[in-house]
Amino acid sequence: MDIREGFIGAIGDTPLIRLSKLSAATGCEILGKAEFLNPGGSVKDRAAWWMIREAEVAGDLKPGGTVVEGTAGNTGIGIAHICNARGYSCVIYMPDNQSQEKIDLLETLGAEVRIVPTVPYKDPMNYQKQAGRFADSLDGAIWANQFDNLANRLAHFESTGPEIWRQTDGRLDAFVTSVGTGGTLSGVSRYLKAENPNVSIVLADPMGSALYSYVKTGTADMSKGPSITEGIGNSRVTDNLADTQIDDAVQVTDQAMVSMVYQLLRDEGWFFGSSTGINLAAAVQVAERLGPGHIIVTMLCDDGSKYRSRLFNEPWLAERGLSTA
Ligand code: PMP
Repeated sequence: MDIREGFIGAIGDTPLIRLSKLSAATGCEILGKAEFLNPGGSVKDRAAWWMIREAEVAGDLKPGGTVVEGTAGNTGIGIAHICNARGYSCVIYMPDNQSQEKIDLLETLGAEVRIVPTVPYKDPMNYQKQAGRFADSLDGAIWANQFDNLANRLAHFESTGPEIWRQTDGRLDAFVTSVGTGGTLSGVSRYLKAENPNVSIVLADPMGSALYSYVKTGTADMSKGPSITEGIGNSRVTDNLADTQIDDAVQVTDQAMVSMVYQLLRDEGWFFGSSTGINLAAAVQVAERLGPGHIIVTMLCDDGSKYRSRLFNEPWLAERGLSTA
């Protein structure tokens, strides 16, 4: 029998899927790690579980405790599911510029959602900083702190990286993915580079983020935005991303992302979110640079269902000058 144990046991070990038309068009193998098949629906289930597990092992999180996080999306969803599975309370701080769909989903999952004004990271009232202060003030609470808690990248070093290595028989040429906290890119990079330093690690960046410039020049200068992507791009180099070997970076416009997501929806049956669109458009750029015959792996981070009022709302896109053609 091949059985997984409960919610936690269902996290990870996702399939690696060949994107048929993108592979045919580039002459490369474009392979996507199906993170949308995690039980909470995204790549962030891995980080959520590793952060909670580390806190349990360290003795910081005890039965009946509370997990607090500042998050606008998938990390909160993963944490809320795991809190239910393991008997913790969950408090999520979110900036007030987020869609109602996300708030409703977190509340359905049983999280207490606290909406706070949208202010820059350096402001003490920033949602992440408020989450940290609240956790400090509450007995039995931990702050997950996904941006700077290294249990996040450890999740990908211990699970995603080895899975990709095994699923490709160690034959991949490049790994390309976008960065929010950087946990995925840095954990996978550390594992793959230890196995084979010649695997090329490429950061895919949306517009309005400073990470493309960080990789290209060493200085994190913001590019011209904004972008409608959610969960990716950053204005700073987090502790999770710091000291990571990254060989190159590519920028992807929102139009290229929208065209990719709709092409895959209409022609191949896939329903992906915006970060996956950025990743696949970037994987095609990398394939074109490398030429035919290479194996390129990227992340299929989540599906499109959370983005129906924005990415999958054609009038909303048209108001922003974006076409689904
Ligand atoms: N895609 C989606 C949909 C996400 O929610 C996130 C996490 N914010 C990412 C990609 C980026 O992953 P990471 O935080 O590991 O860089």
